[in-house]
Amino acid sequence: MEKECGWKNLNENEKNSILDFNEGYIKFLNSSKTERLANMFIVNELESKGFVNLNNLEVLNKGDKVYFNNRGKSVFAAIIGENKLVDGVNLIGAHIDSPRLDLKPNPLYEDANLALFKTHYYGGIKKYQWTTIPLAIHGVVVKPTGEKISISIGEDETDPVFTITDLLPHLAVNQSDKKLRDAIEGESLNLLVGSIPNNEEKESIKKNILNILKGKYGIEECDFVSSELEIVPAFKARSLGFDRSMVAGYGQDDRVCSYATLEAITSCSSSGYTQIAIFADKEEIGSVGNTGMYSDTFDLFITDLLNKVGENEVGAINKLYCNSRMLSADVGAGVDPNYQDVSEKNNASYIGYGIELNKYTGSRGKSGASDANAEFVGFVRGVFEKNNVKYQVSELGKVDIGGGGTIAYILANKGIDVLDCGVPVISMHSPYEVTSKYDVYTAYKAYKSFYESNDKVRY
Ligand code: MN
Ligand code: MN
Repeated sequence: MEKECGWKNLNENEKNSILDFNEGYIKFLNSSKTERLANMFIVNELESKGFVNLNNLEVLNKGDKVYFNNRGKSVFAAIIGENKLVDGVNLIGAHIDSPRLDLKPNPLYEDANLALFKTHYYGGIKKYQWTTIPLAIHGVVVKPTGEKISISIGEDETDPVFTITDLLPHLAVNQSDKKLRDAIEGESLNLLVGSIPNNEEKESIKKNILNILKGKYGIEECDFVSSELEIVPAFKARSLGFDRSMVAGYGQDDRVCSYATLEAITSCSSSGYTQIAIFADKEEIGSVGNTGMYSDTFDLFITDLLNKVGENEVGAINKLYCNSRMLSADVGAGVDPNYQDVSEKNNASYIGYGIELNKYTGSRGKSGASDANAEFVGFVRGVFEKNNVKYQVSELGKVDIGGGGTIAYILANKGIDVLDCGVPVISMHSPYEVTSKYDVYTAYKAYKSFYESNDKVRY
């Protein structure tokens, strides 16, 4: 069980493959800061690699590549294999939503001679991390007519950015005495958006902002009601360290495993099994809603595949699930040198040491866990060892200290064999997460070899 750093004993070729792969990954991060933008990138990439919209096909044949775009927020993709679908599929599932701040439905107000937006945070954030950094706005505003206006401000060097202010240390005596989680309140995460008044008397800065929005985007104040505008860090993902060995950037949970899955399904050779990828939404708030994995939309996708290959008998979908194998491709916690005491060293992941396998997730006495069967963990080890994929086994942290989950249990509940398998991250859920380029590339290799596996799980 001696762990070894992945960068050791690499030849020049391998090292270059890793660095090249991560150039593509960094581009993906920078153009996919929301689930809608990631969805767009993924659908474009799938189409460029020969995948077609499942809705446009009546019949499916072996080798066909299809995707299903669920409302522009989640994507399923499949390559039809030689075997019957009811014999099971090789499935990998990641999520494309990340913690962020959403605008409230009625966001714009003026206070103390400045204009601001009210926000409502999405997912588990440490609120203080979102103050005094440059922020961008992405999303859509939908008119009652159905007209959709896309908004993206803060990425281009010539764009303005936005920010959430924080108290100067000179006057922060009371704030500094508070607990970390109470020092910044949800209702003080207000985004600074303007300061020039127009000529009217009352709320004239707010009115000036509304004039700008009307002129530039054709948006009225009431249109915010039917909008989804997301506040994300405006800074770019980049190489980190003198040796350029790491990636620092926003949204790596879980766009890192999403990218590795996308690259794996668009480059894998066929195994006998049908190969399927999930790019889910809403994981960070419990996989709820019709774009989250609790939705029956995935069943609909599978049923559609079954119908179109001509395997549409009663109970076929359950049979397919019970014969299927899945990697839940989501990130884990890498050991942070500054906070080592939350990790139990013998069962912790280090960045740069390969992809991590989490037999189970959950918290305390495995509450809410997805716990993979030993037979399936053995199977996955077999696939990785055969393909020289470096892996480490871990838990999120010490037993009593916290916990977490992924989409794994939702698919496991359907009857699928599922194992959590992803990239270790430092500063997870912060605006600037850290991964190792070695692990990003190893995730791609791991997922590709899983897709290509033709072995059987032995019970
Ligand atoms: Mn995640
Ligand atoms: Mn997360």
